[in-house]
Amino acid sequence: MQSPMPLVVILATGGTIAGTAAAATDTTGYRAGALGVEALIAAVPALAGHRLESESVAAIDSKDMDLATWKRLAERVAHHLARPEVAGVVVTHGTDTLEETAYFLQRVLAPPKPVMLTAAMRPATALSADGPANLLDAVTVAGTPGARGVGLVFAGAVWAAVGLRKIHTLQTSAFAASDCGPIARLEGGVLRAFRDWPQGEALGLARIAAAPDAWPRVEIVLNHSGADGRLVDAAVASGARGIVVAGTGHGSVSQRLAEALARARAAGVRVARASRCAFGPVLPHDAADLEASGELSAVQARVELQLALLA
Ligand code: ASP
Repeated sequence: MQSPMPLVVILATGGTIAGTAAAATDTTGYRAGALGVEALIAAVPALAGHRLESESVAAIDSKDMDLATWKRLAERVAHHLARPEVAGVVVTHGTDTLEETAYFLQRVLAPPKPVMLTAAMRPATALSADGPANLLDAVTVAGTPGARGVGLVFAGAVWAAVGLRKIHTLQTSAFAASDCGPIARLEGGVLRAFRDWPQGEALGLARIAAAPDAWPRVEIVLNHSGADGRLVDAAVASGARGIVVAGTGHGSVSQRLAEALARARAAGVRVARASRCAFGPVLPHDAADLEASGELSAVQARVELQLALLA
């Protein structure tokens, strides 16, 4: 007997993939998250033969992603992954904060099944909208035996969550990972894998059990010419429990910013060092240095620090 098609659950959160504009030529003046998940699926005739379930978790522009939505999303993903009949989950999302959500889900769930985020740079109403092909590819990956972990399926490539970055404001190839290329590519709908699927230890849903308004505040401060550290002092004074510094180059900071960070540490605030550079890791100075963020971007380092402070 032929084995049944894998069951994939699509969880929608909004974004440009569900965006609509008044004109098909308009790729910037649109409303994100306007279409329901059924409309996204219906726009892809090739999905008709797939076993799908869908659910709306949110309908927002991901620039407004918040902790309550993250929490609900993690719970819904975990719920569906626990169903033995579900092969994998697809999450439709805006591109703007996608790397944060992907990293958050990977750290909290480190799922043994695939959880593939997907998105679009052009709204659903645009000429050559990129969402439908991305959604089809994401469903393909989420139903692939052996695939696992949280990733992004976008513009024909599959990216791991860790180190993922949005690198372009407009182009449809808008994502990259720190120093490594994609895990796999989709070529004519066929998956060609280059590397192992992401693994990791799940922090678990218990880590994010606190009400979102009780989560520790973590701010990001940038080093730049003339950076004087006053933003660090202001963050500490307003209750931040963590600060990520997006340093210059290999995470370096000005003398005055370094002094402000030392004051923050002395006040019990945790500090993490990332870089404002697009690519490359920030390595520890020595074995005792726990502040270096490795290949995480500043925004992913912020998620990491927030989850650490929740422990
Ligand atoms: N502002 C949109 C969002 O992140 C951008 C996109 O989806 O491409 O929801």
